[in-house]
Amino acid sequence: MTSKAKTSITFYNGLTTIGGPMIEVAYNKSHVLFDLGEVYRPELDLPDEKYQTLIENQLIGDVPNFYDPELTGKPIDHQRWEHAAAYMSHLHLDHSKAMNFLAPEIPLYAGPLTAKMMPALNEHGDFLLPAAGHEASYVRPIIAAEYRKPIQVGNITLEVWPSDHDAYGATGLIITTPDKRIAYTGDIRLHGYHPDWVHEFLAAAKNCDALIIEGTGVSWPEEKHDQSSEEFTGPKNENELTAQFVELQKDNPERQITFNTYPTNVERLLRIIADSPRRVVLHAQRAHLLRESLGKEFDYYYLPGEEKFADLQPGLEVSYQELLNDNHAYLWQAVGNYTDLQEGGLYIHSNAEPLGDFDPAYQPFLQALSDKKIEFKGLRCSGHADEKELKEIIKEVQPANLIPVHTLHPELEENPFGERILPKRNQTITL
Ligand SMILES: [Zn+2]
Repeated sequence: MTSKAKTSITFYNGLTTIGGPMIEVAYNKSHVLFDLGEVYRPELDLPDEKYQTLIENQLIGDVPNFYDPELTGKPIDHQRWEHAAAYMSHLHLDHSKAMNFLAPEIPLYAGPLTAKMMPALNEHGDFLLPAAGHEASYVRPIIAAEYRKPIQVGNITLEVWPSDHDAYGATGLIITTPDKRIAYTGDIRLHGYHPDWVHEFLAAAKNCDALIIEGTGVSWPEEKHDQSSEEFTGPKNENELTAQFVELQKDNPERQITFNTYPTNVERLLRIIADSPRRVVLHAQRAHLLRESLGKEFDYYYLPGEEKFADLQPGLEVSYQELLNDNHAYLWQAVGNYTDLQEGGLYIHSNAEPLGDFDPAYQPFLQALSDKKIEFKGLRCSGHADEKELKEIIKEVQPANLIPVHTLHPELEENPFGERILPKRNQTITL
């Protein structure tokens, strides 16, 4: 009987859009689901983020037998599915926001850093979607997977591999069933801090039966021309970005310099702190996040009237007034109150919020800086492989089947080494 079983893959969401992939691999009575994010579409201006609303707007996949019955009203068929597990590749919301929707009895695996940071990120209940019957700050259990160590889910085996993306601790996945081997890149790049980890992951995935690959890098063919699209402008890699942070400080010995980065891009911030000639001071909220999730302590400041964090060492606090008066000793994280800054200063925006023009907060933010004649310097580095890197990744893996997801143009990713599959939403393919 078992010999008739085959490996199938069902694609529930996140195919022709950037983000929110929800994919199920099934074999006999075992199945696994990855990832657990919500597609980001602020322009929909939805009245709420309830389960039904998200399903109706296709922001999450309509995946049977994984979500909490308290949300769906439908029981999970545990007779049909004796073994189930879920996995999320990294911390970004389009891969993680719906993790609390997973039925409590289904184990959820993630890389160790993802598992560690998530509770700190959702401490105020404004990061994840809420679990049924819990307060907003609740985070369901996440099992910290040991890198590369096989995890058995019935007759499916999962291996979580360290990879590289602009989310701290990002991972990729290798899934082995009794008859097939499938690799899922999560979000991936070759120009980050750890290309070596990515190459090892790809080598382990070599000649797999199916490579499910993100394709953010081929999403804007119309912007290609001679230069890359906006996503791929700026420093060529993360090391160059850190070096430019250092250069800007050297070039401006007597000028107030402030900056900001994105909370989940922890590694970039750690490098900036380590390499900067100036003393780096974080806003207390960010210092608290790093203290809470990683046990690391950094210099910090509070804006006037802000609530204090009990876990931050008083000895590391720098007064806001001292930062405002400074023009040479500090590089500090500005998160608002731009009218307090010195005229003619320099502000470095490194993939921080507000992220760009699509955010209504972006123009007022630029205006506030320009009102104070503060120079805005964008230093960005993409978390995604560009077109050339995607080709390199495919070449390293040489999969029998290439399945592009997480892109506006899946048809632009090609597989010179075998077939390419462009699944439709909710389609099941049998390998
Ligand atoms: Zn991501």
